[in-house]
Parts: sequence; structure tokens; C-alpha cells
Amino acid sequence: MTKIVDNLITITEKIEKAKQQRISPQEVTLIAVTKSVSLERTQEAVDANITSLGENRPEGLLNKHEGITGEVTWHYIGSLQTRKVKQIIDQVDYIHSLDRLSLAQEINKRASKKIKCFVQVNVSGEQSKHGLVKEEVQPFIESLKTYEHIEVVGLMTMAPFTEDETLIRHVFKELKTLQVEIAAMQFAHAPCLELSMGMSNDYEIAIEEGATFVRIGTALVGD
Ligand SMILES: *Cc1c(COP(=O)(O)O)cnc(C)c1O
Repeated sequence: MTKIVDNLITITEKIEKAKQQRISPQEVTLIAVTKSVSLERTQEAVDANITSLGENRPEGLLNKHEGITGEVTWHYIGSLQTRKVKQIIDQVDYIHSLDRLSLAQEINKRASKKIKCFVQVNVSGEQSKHGLVKEEVQPFIESLKTYEHIEVVGLMTMAPFTEDETLIRHVFKELKTLQVEIAAMQFAHAPCLELSMGMSNDYEIAIEEGATFVRIGTALVGD
């Protein structure tokens, strides 16, 4: 397996190059998605100065949280069952998969601090994908305003699994447009300035289209 520090050099260069292709001066946070690697490999990432880790299962998050030494910001990026919220809520800083009111209610009830949440959007409308369809996003976000433990920091999406770069780019552009529309409403509970989009195969496109958080697994830590 390639060393994470070496992968990180390559990825950081590509991130910088992609950032130059866009107008937005916003920073890009790299999240290492460690869901399919060991604790040792995850520690290697932290030792390479990666400070944001992402997991998509409660068990994985708890295991890594317990075993890792270092200052880490924890991201929950997978679909989240309502009954499992209480297992992880004290261990997460960000949840990228807020997609329904029942989940929001449970997060709000169980959290003892404000949780930074991304609302997950199914931009392409594919049946198999999680997330709200575009039309549902604004009313959903408005309905969260009484939930004192939820801050909607932005929107998240997964591009369709395809080689078609034009299609991928289109999906990211649409999420950006939606994010700008919601940010313009200036909801106190939903600044919505961030965009969580881009994985191993499409993070450069995502950054060109305005991503501020990229979630990279395979290309960074392996699988
Ligand atoms: C697994 C996963 C990633 C990372 O995928 P790679 O293709 O390995 O980079 C990003 N986001 C989510 C939601 C994931 O489940």
C-alpha cells in the first residue's frame, strides 16, 4: 500500500490546482474517509497531519474515535438510523447526511452541543440515492429553525457513479446554485455556506464547482 503521506502530496497538489480554476476564495477541507481501513492505517493518516476523519457506520466511528490519538474533527458521512443517533452524537462534530425530520428531531434531542449538519441532497434524482430532492430542500431547512442543536452549515451530495464528466459537473453546479439560494435567505440557524461534495474519482471537478469539503477514501488511505 502506498504511504498516506505520498498520496497526500499528490492530492494536495491536485486540490490546489483545482482551487485555481474557481472564483471562490473559500478554503477546502480534506476529509479522510477511513471507513474501509484499519485503526493503524487511520492513525497513519492522523500522523500525516490529516485532522478531519469521516466514517459511515456508527460502529466504525466509535471504534476509530476510541482508538485514535490526536486532535481530530469527526465527520459522520453515511446514512444514519434514527435509533443509532444516541450512540454517536457525543463523538461527532459534523453530520453530512441529514435528510429527514425524524433524524433532525433525534439529533436535536440527544445532542448537548450544536451539531454542524449538511443537508443531503439527491440532485440527480436517482432512485437508489439518499437525500432530499431539490424542491424539498428549502422547506426542510426552514422547518429546522426551532432546533437549537442543529446548525445547517451547508449541503452535501454524491455524484452519480458514471464516467460522464459533464453529468458529474452538472450535478455539482446544481448543488452550488441551491446552496447560494439558501444562503441568500440568511436563516440564523442555516448559514449554509459550505458544500460537501467530491470523492476519490471526482474531487477535482467538485472543487472547481465550489466544494469546501471533499470526502476522500480510496485515493488517500486505500480500501
Ligand atoms: C465511501 C464514501 C466516500 C469516499 O469514497 P472514495 O471513492 O473511496 O473516495 C465519500 N463519501 C461518502 C458518503 C462515502 O460513503
